[in-house]
Amino acid sequence: MNPGSFPAHIIRDDHFRDHCGIFAIHGHAEAAKLTYLGLYALQHRGQESAGIAVSDGERIVGHKGMGHVADVFTKEVLDGLPGRMAIGHTRYSTAGDTDLKNAQPLVVSCQKGQVALAHNGNLVNASTSRKELEARGAIFQTSSDTELIVHHFARSKQSGVPEAVADALDRVKGAYSLVMLFKDFIYGIRDPHGFRPLALGRLGEPPNQAWVLASETCAFDLIGAKFERDIEPGEMVILDARGPTFLRFAPPQPKQCIFEHVYFSRPDSLVFGRSVQGSREMLGRQLAREHPADADIVVPVPDSGVAAAIGYAEESDIPLKFGLIRNHYVGRTFIEPGQAIRDFGVRLKLNPVARLMEGKRVVLVDDSIIRGTTSRKIVRIVKEAGAREVHVRISCPPTVSPCYYGIDTPTRSELIAATHTEESIREFIGADSLGYLSLEGLRRAVEDTKGHYCLACYTAEYPTTVQEQLIALRNRD
Ligand code: SF4
Repeated sequence: MNPGSFPAHIIRDDHFRDHCGIFAIHGHAEAAKLTYLGLYALQHRGQESAGIAVSDGERIVGHKGMGHVADVFTKEVLDGLPGRMAIGHTRYSTAGDTDLKNAQPLVVSCQKGQVALAHNGNLVNASTSRKELEARGAIFQTSSDTELIVHHFARSKQSGVPEAVADALDRVKGAYSLVMLFKDFIYGIRDPHGFRPLALGRLGEPPNQAWVLASETCAFDLIGAKFERDIEPGEMVILDARGPTFLRFAPPQPKQCIFEHVYFSRPDSLVFGRSVQGSREMLGRQLAREHPADADIVVPVPDSGVAAAIGYAEESDIPLKFGLIRNHYVGRTFIEPGQAIRDFGVRLKLNPVARLMEGKRVVLVDDSIIRGTTSRKIVRIVKEAGAREVHVRISCPPTVSPCYYGIDTPTRSELIAATHTEESIREFIGADSLGYLSLEGLRRAVEDTKGHYCLACYTAEYPTTVQEQLIALRNRD
């Protein structure tokens, strides 16, 4: 069995990787500084680069760099970003290279004026759309799919900004939550399926209020803003001196990403109108109903398994114990010192509290099994800490298909559940039993009675057509 292969000295996080976080604020004298704080709250959505663009009503300027928000911005940089309007972005590359030129916001000048744009998502028709534009003379500055939207906007024959934006959006397909900064106003946009979240908040009271947009509401909490409502799928909001104006540019066909609730978003956020913490606890409760275990303690794999473990423990009436401690100061990849220490990579991140687990029958709760290699190491660590039995419970169904909507996923051949039965996965990870939440249980936990969630990584039923090249890329061996 070879569920995933990497250079021997590099250890990679065995999770679907986050995408991007976006933030915008209109009507505040400290717009750049509040955007900086908002990006701090959204850091978990992208750690490769960060950027802010501001407008003082006359012109748009920006600053971006590689690394975390704290690495990119200093007080001097923020002091050099004047204006009452700003947008910001944290990036993990899902399309395009890992390169400063692909960092966002993109700031461009065109015949319609200056515009800055920040994007969370992934366009599924990027390849053909790019070729068509290049054939018509377009010159691209980046390898990011986001630039397509800018080109379509700049080339639109529509003279009004809302019409030109709608025209550009009509030419792209896939996942996009966007914030667009113009000299005097800001647009917030969610694609017709609403794959990625985008929420509107209000900071202060009239007449001294500012309007805020963010991928997750945890960014509002940090700056003291109040959540107003989500931008709906197929909707755009214009923030200007009069406040927000809502326009529909396409009929809504909601297919929101279920993985935002399973893993990506912060538990202290409201996403798609629901508490992420509440959703995860419900996933855990449902999991306990579907896969009970004769056990002494419930142990979460921190951090993302914690909320589901709370739900599992409450539903099953088995005590919750934090038997694994996470080291929060470890990056995504690091160099392994040879083979001297078994499971070094995972041990660097997770250390067992042997006193809690010695002689115990443990229910180990995690949010997903991707390649299986990390789960195998964690089970081994728990057993070596003295656990008598380890019963692994996963708070979502088997992950069998890659994502094309803004999440960096392994290829299908690397997803262990795409090619192995549950029993062979159990055997591979060394668990005494293994239970995945059912698809019905997942939908029930988030109260998806209308089919408004994308479930494609569990079903391979994609809500949009996806270009063959993209599928080939994801399915390559
Ligand atoms: S394929 Fe999976 S990760 Fe991608 S949008 Fe759909 S549910 Fe989310």
